[in-house]
Amino acid sequence: MDRKKKMGAVIHPKTEQPAAPICAICGKPITANCTVDHVIPQAIYKWHESYLDKAEFSALRRRLTSARNTVRTHRRCNERKEESIVGIDGLHVSRRKRAKLRETYRAVEPYVQAFLEKKEQLAAQQQSRCFLCRAELRDGGVLRRIDDQLDRTWDNACLICHRCNARRVKSGDVKTYQAQRRAAAAKAAAKAAAAARPAAQTAAKSPAAGVPNPPSAASRRRRPRHRRRNHTKNP
Ligand SMILES: [Zn+2]
Ligand SMILES: [Zn+2]
Repeated sequence: MDRKKKMGAVIHPKTEQPAAPICAICGKPITANCTVDHVIPQAIYKWHESYLDKAEFSALRRRLTSARNTVRTHRRCNERKEESIVGIDGLHVSRRKRAKLRETYRAVEPYVQAFLEKKEQLAAQQQSRCFLCRAELRDGGVLRRIDDQLDRTWDNACLICHRCNARRVKSGDVKTYQAQRRAAAAKAAAKAAAAARPAAQTAAKSPAAGVPNPPSAASRRRRPRHRRRNHTKNP
């Protein structure tokens, strides 16, 4: 929170974008809902923490959290892109800003590549479906921990869709989430059945009353099981 606030204050002169702010992603003027976007996703340093020594990790974090790695964007454009890597060449920024972004990118490129490779592997493992709702993943999905109590390691990673991400479904609560979905589906089915019942009830009730209990006859026939067990004993 504190860091965000500080960055927001620092960003204005340092983003090096024209005085009338233009969204770096879509190039249109920003009149409301301006956000500071990290061009190279922050997720990259977070998902490297378990695999780097302290010095290397803090160097990577410093680069990715730096104002050099930020641009101003519409909130909507920022959210839509999530952690996908936007090409630096396609951004609406000054030439100087672009040079600085490229410099940052070159310094962290191996980490970016490793991150993208892992995401691709995960997508293949999940058959390009959301870990939570099984919907098809578009533009790679959003990386999350399976268990939020554990560190960010690739054994504890999954991809979820933007819809689940927007709903703030916790990856750690997969079972709860799935139970909720099942309950909602059962409720909807019960409601549909209740709506159909009045007509079905009157039609089904009268002929059913005349039928002599068929289940008891079936259960009597099932008895010979006893004998079968003796047969298997021989070999
Ligand atoms: Zn925009
Ligand atoms: Zn989903």
